[in-house]
Amino acid sequence: MPQGKLFLILGPSGSGKGTVINYLRKKFPQAVFPLSCTTRPPRPGESDGEVYHFLTKDEFQKKINTGEFLEWAVVHHDNFYGTLKQPILDALAAGKIVIREVDMQGVESIRKILPSGQVIAIFITAPSWENLKHRILGRSKIPQEELEQREKSFEREMEFSKKCDFVVMSEEGKIQEYCEKVSEIIH
Ligand code: 5GP
Repeated sequence: MPQGKLFLILGPSGSGKGTVINYLRKKFPQAVFPLSCTTRPPRPGESDGEVYHFLTKDEFQKKINTGEFLEWAVVHHDNFYGTLKQPILDALAAGKIVIREVDMQGVESIRKILPSGQVIAIFITAPSWENLKHRILGRSKIPQEELEQREKSFEREMEFSKKCDFVVMSEEGKIQEYCEKVSEIIH
């Protein structure tokens, strides 16, 4: 039976995961980029069915009850996120490369379900908290309290990076280089 591989992309917010995934979409047109479900509202420019299915908490709960998720977790601000089981298992059974962004909880849950050789966690990191803070504040103004929370998450995530299969540094001004590093890992 063919066995595909599931590449999980994770890292602190602002580390460049989105940039990496957009790069990989072009680089690996034959790969599967499964949708996840979330209860957070869509941001400007996001539509349902691109990266997420946007669900109400009730709709999400129904999918938990019917066992539709491979894993699910509460991530930021009480929002639920979950990877859908069937599209991922079908793609893996067909021998495909599957690429999905998840958080640390998602990596831990999926590692308990799928065989270890089939799941590869790639952690995208910034050179330091100062550097990441600069990037986050450059994107939008956020309250001090939220910034402090992100710093705590950054520390937890850096600790978790030790448990990942690969760590790739997203250096300032070197987008092509770090995206290419991730792409070589997948190759
Ligand atoms: P965002 O709302 O910014 O798209 O994502 C917020 C966080 O949720 C990120 O850390 C992202 O990796 C995580 N996330 C996105 N989809 C999933 C998923 O299906 N499962 C889990 N566990 N986390 C997810």
